[in-house]
Amino acid sequence: MTIAPFIRSCIFVFSACFVAAPAISAPVPFKMNEVEYDIMVKIDPMSRTLEGKSLITVHRPRELQLLLGAGYEVTQAEFNDGALGIGREQANQPHVWNIPFHFRQQIQFLIQWKGVLAPLDTALDHRQTLARPVAVSGVDGTFLPDSSDWYPRIAGQFARYKVNIELPPGQKGLVAGRLIEENDSEQGYRATFEFSHPAEGIDLMAGPYAIDTLMHHNIKQKPVQLRTYFHPQISKLSKDYLNAVKGYLDRYESEIGEYPYSEFSVVSSPTPTGFGMPTLTYLGIDVLQLPFIRSTSLGHEVLHNWWGNGVYPDYRSGNWSEGLTTFMADYAYKEQESDVAAREMRLGWLRDFAALQPGQDVPLTAFTSRTHGASKIVGYNKAAMVFFMLRDHLGEALFQRALQGLWATRRFQITSWQDVQKMFELVSGQLLESFFAQWLTRSGAPALEITEVKNAAADSGYSLSITLKQTEPAYQLQVPIAVETQQGSTVHRLDLQQAQQTFTLKLTDKPLAVSLDPDLRLFRQLAPGEAPPILREVIVNSATQTVLLSAQPEIRKIAETLAAKLQDRKLEIIAPDDPLTSTPALVIGLQTEVNAWLTAKKLPARPDETSKKGSAQVWTMARSGGASLAIVSAQDAASLEALIRPLPHYGRQSYLVFDGRQAIEKGIWPMLVQKVMVE
Ligand SMILES: [Zn+2]
Repeated sequence: MTIAPFIRSCIFVFSACFVAAPAISAPVPFKMNEVEYDIMVKIDPMSRTLEGKSLITVHRPRELQLLLGAGYEVTQAEFNDGALGIGREQANQPHVWNIPFHFRQQIQFLIQWKGVLAPLDTALDHRQTLARPVAVSGVDGTFLPDSSDWYPRIAGQFARYKVNIELPPGQKGLVAGRLIEENDSEQGYRATFEFSHPAEGIDLMAGPYAIDTLMHHNIKQKPVQLRTYFHPQISKLSKDYLNAVKGYLDRYESEIGEYPYSEFSVVSSPTPTGFGMPTLTYLGIDVLQLPFIRSTSLGHEVLHNWWGNGVYPDYRSGNWSEGLTTFMADYAYKEQESDVAAREMRLGWLRDFAALQPGQDVPLTAFTSRTHGASKIVGYNKAAMVFFMLRDHLGEALFQRALQGLWATRRFQITSWQDVQKMFELVSGQLLESFFAQWLTRSGAPALEITEVKNAAADSGYSLSITLKQTEPAYQLQVPIAVETQQGSTVHRLDLQQAQQTFTLKLTDKPLAVSLDPDLRLFRQLAPGEAPPILREVIVNSATQTVLLSAQPEIRKIAETLAAKLQDRKLEIIAPDDPLTSTPALVIGLQTEVNAWLTAKKLPARPDETSKKGSAQVWTMARSGGASLAIVSAQDAASLEALIRPLPHYGRQSYLVFDGRQAIEKGIWPMLVQKVMVE
């Protein structure tokens, strides 16, 4: 017996945003406000016992199914005033009650249940936690994911709820929602939470938390209680987190509209996981200690209160909320940093997309949640780029107004890509069907090239004709073309509708060169060699060959350890004298060995960016034929050894200079844009 899991929102560990999970696979036969839970739950993390009691009210009922997980014993089950039975025939089966249609205004169930929760296993990583919708408990933390069916619930229905939590002294707990009552005494902790909008489900968290608070006033001057529920060992971080949340609420309220809740909490988890839910985010203790989380993932999670947990995506037609959240959080922070940083992120998206294996690419309408890296590349990154292109198309002001309209009209409602499209059409007064259809329902991306450029003198200037070609079936694209003259560079947007089209530009200055989308504003296939080589290409390619330059056993051993750490598989080692093949290669040695090898292979000398600096240098090099080289050069054994830990984290760089373990310089080589000189 399976039911749709309802783990909301997104996860972050390290620099990447992970998962979104919920899946409303069944149609929603009820209106959204028709189910209510009133739950009392008592948990003892020492003995891992849970006792619960729930009054479930269904207004205007139809045929329905009530469910409770297999690990619990039902001690009372009533339906209106009659007995209901325990909903299963054998122990270890889930409890399932099939309730036929009733001619009533409302029906009620009263269920009492108890059970022993699985022990908390802090050795699990994020992926394992996700893959295991199991309710766990221990003194360091209790996590009852909604998908574990820890409370009796009506299958496939959104519901409002009230949850009263009881815990022993020293423990604190919460669910998403408004804290309406709290009592902490020597007898223990009690708190009551209420969620008055239709919610997808209930996740409960508890632990030996220290609570810190900050009062925030929202855009309408209503109070919003900000809280951290942190394990004591990280409680010193709470002030910074509270202030960061406050900043994000201000930012997104001014961009989108009023924050819809009266609280937001950041809750620490003993496992290295990350979940976003309405009114809170649940992040691993280790994750919370990473310095960049406050400036990246936290903002993404806060924003999910608008997109994802505020306006609900319609998973049947594709999850748009991760793309929009990525665009307005992760990507927006890069734009704020600099144009270069933002372009680097777009390049990363296109590069990752280009590296997808056949079959991994799906249309956006098929993306429901992130299950592996490939779906993130489409569901998060491509979708974010679609919003980026839409903003380019409509302009900032209309784009912003449409988002505000979406928030004003769709909050707490299931909203499809089509509803999103309609709002953008309504606000802009433009038909956007072809834009949305080509980006949502097609997989792949257009490949574009400049096939011909001709220039002629014309009255008081020049007439420049540019022929563009794209793969078929043709996309409808506004292709940015940069025309360079002595006066500088000007971008023209050419309206490409067909597989091949010629455009004529009237210019006053003599054109010198023409380049195609040099700023990467279109979601498209990169041309061969367009993206500069980065370390990751060499690291992840399963054909990569390793060249160990040093003959000294001690150095060789360190070099081999480093290579193994980078490639995470059995190494294919070739001798320094062997000819390089068409596969990528990783070359490791001491400075003099590297210099001699480069000369012997007639390869360019070390680049200026890395010469005469630091204790070790790493750089990539594109070779004709497409395969990249990555070269690691260190001044001595200790400098080489110092790279083992940090270097694997820098896969997105083209070059790095290290001083010991510290990367003191890094960067990406310039792109080789498609550029045609004008004769
Ligand atoms: Zn997310």
